[in-house]
Amino acid sequence: MRGRGRFAPSPTGQLHFGSLVAAVGSWLRAKSLGHDWLVRMEDLDRTREVPGSAADILSTLAAFGLQSDLPVIQQSGRNERYQQALQQLRDAGHVYACHCSRSDLAEFNGVHPAACVRSGSTEGAPAAWRARVGSAQIRFHDAVFGDIEQNLGEQVGDFVLRRSDGLHTYQLAVVVDDAEQGISEVVRGADLLDSTPRQIFLQRLLGLPTPEYLHLPLVLDEDGRKLSKQLRARPVDAGDPLPALRDALRHLGQHVPLLASPAATLCAALQRFDHRAIPAIKRANVAMQDD
Ligand code: GLU
Repeated sequence: MRGRGRFAPSPTGQLHFGSLVAAVGSWLRAKSLGHDWLVRMEDLDRTREVPGSAADILSTLAAFGLQSDLPVIQQSGRNERYQQALQQLRDAGHVYACHCSRSDLAEFNGVHPAACVRSGSTEGAPAAWRARVGSAQIRFHDAVFGDIEQNLGEQVGDFVLRRSDGLHTYQLAVVVDDAEQGISEVVRGADLLDSTPRQIFLQRLLGLPTPEYLHLPLVLDEDGRKLSKQLRARPVDAGDPLPALRDALRHLGQHVPLLASPAATLCAALQRFDHRAIPAIKRANVAMQDD
């Protein structure tokens, strides 16, 4: 089968520059390998969704010359699939019900240990489901950031797959969807580098293939903070896409002259695309982080 890349925005607002970088970077990489490029709408958490933003993101992408090669799928319609994956993990004894709250875990720096720490009564309270990580040590190679290693037990702890309010989490959904969509390489922002070992761990538990990974340099604001919607990062201007496209390409280390349209510029960028020129910017080096 032909390889596949993807861009997976969350419809929590308009497309901002950091997301444009992920869209352009994943598109260039997929196309340079002769792969299809898919868009998946990560609208699992309906409470965070901004109405209209899914359609707005898609039309903004189109203004930049970026169109999904297959119909866009929405995570909100795929609950049953996530439920099945969770059941598979339950049947194999890899998950357990947990009543610990955030404040219960504060003294453990939010890292859930191998056994629950909740002391009060939990009778009748809805439970979250957590994956048991044991002392799993996960290594992978990232095409930009090189060899990455994480000890899940020490650095992450047993992590939630389904919240007590019934919502399946990003970590579970992304693993199910990447496998089902046949994604051969995941290209996304470096803010998700730390999530990748959890996803590889789940792929192994579920018997799913592990894709290749390439993380893109974080976009920082003038103060060295990661751009995010919380910081009200400005949406990119779909009416005048060329300046933002030029900046996104520069951020990816690709220096391409601007042509008359975004599609022509992307085409020129594709011809010269060199993933080795992508810089490995990983951390905002200031204390104040917004996530
Ligand atoms: N939905 C995530 C975001 O918008 C991206 C997840 C991914 O690419 O794995 O940040």
